[in-house]
Amino acid sequence: MVVMGWAGWYGRARVRNGMLGALSKLLEFRSDTFTKPTPAMRKAMAEAEVGDDQYGEDPTVNRLEERAAAVVGKAAAVYVASGMLGNLCGVLSQAQRGEEVILGDLAHIYQNEMGAFATLGSLHGRIVPNRDGMPALEDIEAAIRPTAGAFPRTALLCLENSHNNCGGSVLTPEQTRAAADLAHSRGVRVHLDGARIFNAAIALGVDARELTAAVDTVQFCFSKGLSAPVGSVLCGDAETVAKARKIRKLLGGAMRQAGVVAAAALVALETMRDRLGQDHANARALAEGLAAIAGIRIDPRRVVTNIVSFELDPARMDAGMFQRSCAERDLRISRYLGNSPRLRMVTHNDVSRADVDAALAVMAAILQSQRVATPASVLGPSY
Ligand SMILES: *Cc1c(COP(=O)(O)O)cnc(C)c1O
Repeated sequence: MVVMGWAGWYGRARVRNGMLGALSKLLEFRSDTFTKPTPAMRKAMAEAEVGDDQYGEDPTVNRLEERAAAVVGKAAAVYVASGMLGNLCGVLSQAQRGEEVILGDLAHIYQNEMGAFATLGSLHGRIVPNRDGMPALEDIEAAIRPTAGAFPRTALLCLENSHNNCGGSVLTPEQTRAAADLAHSRGVRVHLDGARIFNAAIALGVDARELTAAVDTVQFCFSKGLSAPVGSVLCGDAETVAKARKIRKLLGGAMRQAGVVAAAALVALETMRDRLGQDHANARALAEGLAAIAGIRIDPRRVVTNIVSFELDPARMDAGMFQRSCAERDLRISRYLGNSPRLRMVTHNDVSRADVDAALAVMAAILQSQRVATPASVLGPSY
């Protein structure tokens, strides 16, 4: 069997459909990272005032950092190329080689960032179970090391809001405060992976600052629901951000005339936060539609932001086969952690309610044809 990357595989599906006639609209539900820059962003990029950011002289980057810090109630910020780099700068500026970082077992930093905190930071990960996004306070407390004895020092607790691998679930201001107060009372700092912090804020009906006030640093992405082409930001107190800036350089992530992309991020920050509720409404409609399709397992009440997580009845169809069948019909969905039975669809600025309805029709048709094609007698017992 020829192993093909997603790109080649999708390309082939497109050509085949193309030969059948006009291309149907591609339904891109794999991630909100697929959002394209808006016309306003492209105009701002073309007109951006720029300078050398490594000299601190790119006026657009400086404006973006100032605004980003203000929006999450922090004193300072550093613009970075990706969310992963923002997290890495946040973690490495607050934990030293050989120290320990407490992470949820489903945290993006632990699962989806190549173990960089360990590989590049020489840090020890202490893993606690994620439950609906939030690790239990008693698990966090039990994971904090005593100072005496042959233990690594616990330096940092990482939280995540909204929680990607937990289906876009959110942490409330109270949950965040309780975990942060516990950590701080034991001399442990707190980093928040807030890649989608504004989705969480809109879902909870609170200002983002209420979700970030208790933590020391927060990373958020311009390149997801906010639809900017590039970049994330790490925000915190001036001293920590100064250290993080050094780490960004150490990792090769310092930039020059980055105002070209920061200009789009500024437009994203100022104009794209308020519309995220539309994505949440579309996600809820998608979840309710999925719940009505036989063979799909989902509790729509758990869908509170723009991420929809679901499973198939394994007796009906394998998740990978379902994902490929969708792609052949120009509907792109993703699979959690590469190979889990859980599938993921994400709503964003470039998918409409009509696209949600079209996606539901494709998925219902795939499962319907599967039901007809495969008599229950050959499926064996379901367990
Ligand atoms: C996407 C994401 C990131 C990383 O962002 P990249 O820009 O892809 O590096 C970090 N944390 C969470 C929770 C994310 O969903």
